[in-house]
Amino acid sequence: MPVASATAAREILTGLHEVMASKASAQAKLNKVVRIIAEALASEVCSIYLLRDGLLELFATVGLNQNAVHVTKLALGEGLVGSIAKEVAVLNLAEAASHPEFAYRPETGEELFHSFAGVPIVRKERSIGVLAVQHAEPRAYDELEIEALQTVAMVLSELIANAGLADRAAAGAVESRDAGMARLTGQRLVVGMGQGHAVFHQPRILIEHTVAEDIEAERHRVYAAFARMREQIDTMMGHAEFGTVGEHQEVLETYKMFAYDEGWSRRINEAIDSGLTAEAAIERVRQRMQTRMRQIDDPLLQDRMHDLDDLSNRLLRIVSGQLGTAAQAGLPQDAVLIARNLGPAELLEYDRRKLKGVILEEGSLTAHVTIVARAMGVPMIGRARGVRRTVNEGDLVLVDGGDGLAFIRPTAAVHEAFERKLDASQKRRAEYAALRDVPPVTLDGTRISLMVNAGLRDDVAALSLTGADGIGLFRTEFQFLVSASLPRRESQQRLYRSVLEAAGDKPVIFRTVDVGGDKQLPYLHASENGEENPAMGWRALRLALDRDTLMKAQARALLEAAAGRELDIMFPMVSEPWEFDQAKALVEEQRAWLAGRKKRLPRQVRYGAMLEVPALAETLDILLPKLDFMSIGTNDLTQFLFAADRSNPHLAERYDWLSPAILRFLKRVIAAADAAGVPVGICGEMGGRTLEALALIGIGVRRLSITPVAVGPVKAMIRSLDRDAAMAVLERLLERPPADMRATLGAWAQEKGVSLA
Ligand code: PEP
Ligand code: MG
Repeated sequence: MPVASATAAREILTGLHEVMASKASAQAKLNKVVRIIAEALASEVCSIYLLRDGLLELFATVGLNQNAVHVTKLALGEGLVGSIAKEVAVLNLAEAASHPEFAYRPETGEELFHSFAGVPIVRKERSIGVLAVQHAEPRAYDELEIEALQTVAMVLSELIANAGLADRAAAGAVESRDAGMARLTGQRLVVGMGQGHAVFHQPRILIEHTVAEDIEAERHRVYAAFARMREQIDTMMGHAEFGTVGEHQEVLETYKMFAYDEGWSRRINEAIDSGLTAEAAIERVRQRMQTRMRQIDDPLLQDRMHDLDDLSNRLLRIVSGQLGTAAQAGLPQDAVLIARNLGPAELLEYDRRKLKGVILEEGSLTAHVTIVARAMGVPMIGRARGVRRTVNEGDLVLVDGGDGLAFIRPTAAVHEAFERKLDASQKRRAEYAALRDVPPVTLDGTRISLMVNAGLRDDVAALSLTGADGIGLFRTEFQFLVSASLPRRESQQRLYRSVLEAAGDKPVIFRTVDVGGDKQLPYLHASENGEENPAMGWRALRLALDRDTLMKAQARALLEAAAGRELDIMFPMVSEPWEFDQAKALVEEQRAWLAGRKKRLPRQVRYGAMLEVPALAETLDILLPKLDFMSIGTNDLTQFLFAADRSNPHLAERYDWLSPAILRFLKRVIAAADAAGVPVGICGEMGGRTLEALALIGIGVRRLSITPVAVGPVKAMIRSLDRDAAMAVLERLLERPPADMRATLGAWAQEKGVSLA
């Protein structure tokens, strides 16, 4: 075989182009194709195997015995050809027979040939066939030769699909049979079970045309796409898109590095030179990188290669003009969404009725996208490494958020077991529902106030479903996140009124808009949001006080909505007492304005601060006398206490909420609030976990605002807990903390018969 340069590949592609355009039968076309390839590569054998009814069937060959055509069949994984198809990987062997997978088929007459090179023919990331060449002389093929084969295989995949050669049923069979069941573990982000069909948030592009008509035009398309992609990344890095897309600075920096990488664009250009369309060239280079990726053992480097893979997909989407996410394309009835990461606003774009689960490669427990998923009641698993490689679009996926498990293409037995568990969990849920009307009282008679966190209008239904005491945190920014533009005061007011009406006598604590951090609004101050550390940046009350138009409008909307009722307002991220003063004054100013116009006012307005910034704990003596209530946001508070970004997947499981540092800190704050007679509660995600809630009650907490699905389990825990005993054990454990607080406390709870489901 002569060195297969881009010219050789181009020669083959030109030949293939003619074959594809001809009116010959599909079989005749394949017969021609093997001849063209064998001739251009001067190989003694060239064969095409295609998947039919789950088996790889020899469809066309030059060099092997013609009687073997449509007779030789190999199962996936069987022989060299079978293992290429199964692994979607190249084999390049100087001595084929010495490979452990070699399976001799006498009808082919292949004993004459020593060397063997085979590449998979891929469609939708699965093998639909194999292209192989063989030589009598034992030799390994060089990289350029393999590349030429891969390029040709890519074009073949188009020919095969268009000619209907590998029938759809066969392609389907690969997906369910070849791939088999996969089990993925990840972090438990939102509990609950759901099943549905996989949908990629950013769908993979199916390449329709692989052979270029006009090479210059293709080159131009790639240039334009590169320019557009670089622009997008620069914008993401500098501006508002950062955070909205749920990607981290580190990832964006890698994107940027690759986006400007000359080597990458050069390789794509070379692939175009060989006669491929822009899409096919990008895909070709991506496949080559994937092959390399499989050989790398370093997880960090693999991560970077995934970034490059993402970027290739982005480039493909730009070049093919298919830019929308799956939210725009519409979901099937039962969908399990697969993504690397998501921003809260992106998740909110999906129809929650159709979304049965979300699996992320990244994600963390207190990232806002998780909170949104919890609010939407969608089970979610995070840090599921490799999910995008393992799952095919449309695969059946079972999500068990409680165990952080997902089953892809489940076997009948696993599916059955899943449904049994689902049944049991529904029964348990029914048991919790039966607790709806019983009060959350500890065994020794302390009434704990159990409230729910909400943010969407429909969340209010959780009040009657769970029997909660009220809404302890209404995240008003959710309305901002779901809107394409800044919600007008009237629409804010309508939302607040409808929430208050639906809540009836139960209190609702409205938290003023908390944007910034990982909750970016593309339409708000876009140019000023490119911060290095957005969680510690210009966000929440800081932003609201500096740009007070928004807060004034919101204050007015709240006051109007609560006319004739009681209104509870709290401010997020108060760091120093004067910020609370300013925020309160701003609301009071609006109240005075309305009073001046003889508008109906709330009967009473109560003001609270969120304690989320550790510094505030040092000025409680100044702050507490000013407050009507205080709420501790443990999501932010703990990220600041530990200097551990709440949405960084690497830190997601590093520190425990049950750490002595957190519990001691909280205990001091609770004691200070109690001494000042200021009602205090916890509204972070921590309170929604039974063991954490136990610990909180043990350090004196009597008010929890939690995610609605946690009300049942937490109430059951409270009703089985002796508060005095819990306080005594926490006192002891915090004085001399055990090495593993979680295990020690868990064992104690078990011994005392506390329900921790
Ligand atoms: C918190 O930080 O704990 C909190 C409740 O607010 P959010 O999660 O919306 O930042
Ligand atoms: Mg917060």
